[in-house]
Amino acid sequence: SEYLLEVVDLKKHFPIKAGILQRNVGSVKAVDGVSFKVKRGETIGIVGESGCGKSTAGRTLIRLYEPTAGNILFKGRNISNMGESELRRSIRKDIQMIFQDPFASLNPRKTLKYILSEPMITHQMYKGKERGEKIDELLEKVGFNPMFVNRYPHEFSGGQRQRIGIARALAVNPDLIIADEPVSALDVSIQAQIINLMEDLQDDLGLTYVFISHDLSVVRHISDRVGVMYLGKMMEFAIKKDLYDEPLHPYTQALLSAVPVPKRKGVERRERIILKGDLPSPSNPPQGCVFHTRCPAATAICSEKVPEYKEVKKEHFVACHLY
Ligand code: SF4
Ligand code: MG
Repeated sequence: SEYLLEVVDLKKHFPIKAGILQRNVGSVKAVDGVSFKVKRGETIGIVGESGCGKSTAGRTLIRLYEPTAGNILFKGRNISNMGESELRRSIRKDIQMIFQDPFASLNPRKTLKYILSEPMITHQMYKGKERGEKIDELLEKVGFNPMFVNRYPHEFSGGQRQRIGIARALAVNPDLIIADEPVSALDVSIQAQIINLMEDLQDDLGLTYVFISHDLSVVRHISDRVGVMYLGKMMEFAIKKDLYDEPLHPYTQALLSAVPVPKRKGVERRERIILKGDLPSPSNPPQGCVFHTRCPAATAICSEKVPEYKEVKKEHFVACHLY
């Protein structure tokens, strides 16, 4: 298969428990039908507002969470029902994550040397002298002097700590990196440095990225193809240029209308589409199209029937009754 990863109708529902008996009284449909395919070496951007389920989707598709339904094929193997010991044996090291807050994910009591050794120890890779050499190489790859190995996380700035997070993710030579809001906590100038580093590393090492962010401009910069999520569902998925230049889904159109568009002379803003109402709760999503309570284009069918997610143009998928 030309695809490294295939996600088919993935769902992750969390039970809501109540009372002293902790009975199930419902569920939060955090991810409720997400499908897309990732080619080796490309970057898929996943965008959406907070609470749309993009982070849960990222964690579920790499089996940090057990899926409620759906299939996940990684390198052609279905990993959706694999047990933890088999996951460890077969795919854990091939998929690594980069987090929003590198400081929270780095142990403050450990030196850089220990932090970078840990994944190698977990996956029994690089022993003795080789490990030291690998650590030097990792530090150089993320733009650090190897002399830094005995320093602690607090001695580094936010951007530098994200470089450490990246180095740690690369320690076991993964194929796929899930980056969940990796630059959202950083200043804009530092964001650009980290994005550029990620792109250089991708070219250098043949990495594949799933880049999760609420920031449409950052996603536009780094992605080859982009998916838009709303209330746990994939609303639209397309090649970046198609999605940003000709968004088909009314939700994507509304999101993009808030972003300034670079034009030949200066910056132009599309007519801003203001959505009515608030984001509904994922524990009680609207019937039919989940976007119908806020959609400017909704018609009678939209509150009754769930729109099918389908390919309406080449490599352009949409879930909307208009198409
Ligand atoms: Fe709007 Fe209807 Fe399309 Fe949903 S299916 S996005 S409500 S037009
Ligand atoms: Mg790229």
